[in-house]
Amino acid sequence: MTDADGRGHNAPCSNKDFDFFYRGLEAEQVLIQKCSSCSFLRNPPSPSCPECHSLEWQTLPLGGEGTVHSFTIHHYPPLPDFKTPHPVVLADMAEGIRLLGAMDGTAPEDIRIGMPVRFEFLRRGNVAAFRFRAA
Ligand code: ZN
Repeated sequence: MTDADGRGHNAPCSNKDFDFFYRGLEAEQVLIQKCSSCSFLRNPPSPSCPECHSLEWQTLPLGGEGTVHSFTIHHYPPLPDFKTPHPVVLADMAEGIRLLGAMDGTAPEDIRIGMPVRFEFLRRGNVAAFRFRAA
């Protein structure tokens, strides 16, 4: 997909609701939606605010700090650009929302709920992405 300036991204799939998220990753930002009416933060993206139903929103870049709320270890099926088993973390971010992402650099058996994490940016193939690492 490309915008009016010809800049594009290589997200594996996107749509009108998710496009800003993948453009943010290309700029090394994890963006979430902030309601323009009531300031409610939401993630994953959605067309309207679940609190006040406003369709107006802005983006807010996350700072990257969080703690493990929960996690799972993905074994199967194999995914392009991922080694299995690989951990997938649901993190409580400092901004007060949860963010789901892959985690690298820590053995699956060493991951703990409450563990501090921080995200960093990388490319998986041609796709801009982020991953968590232990902080
Ligand atoms: Zn709202």
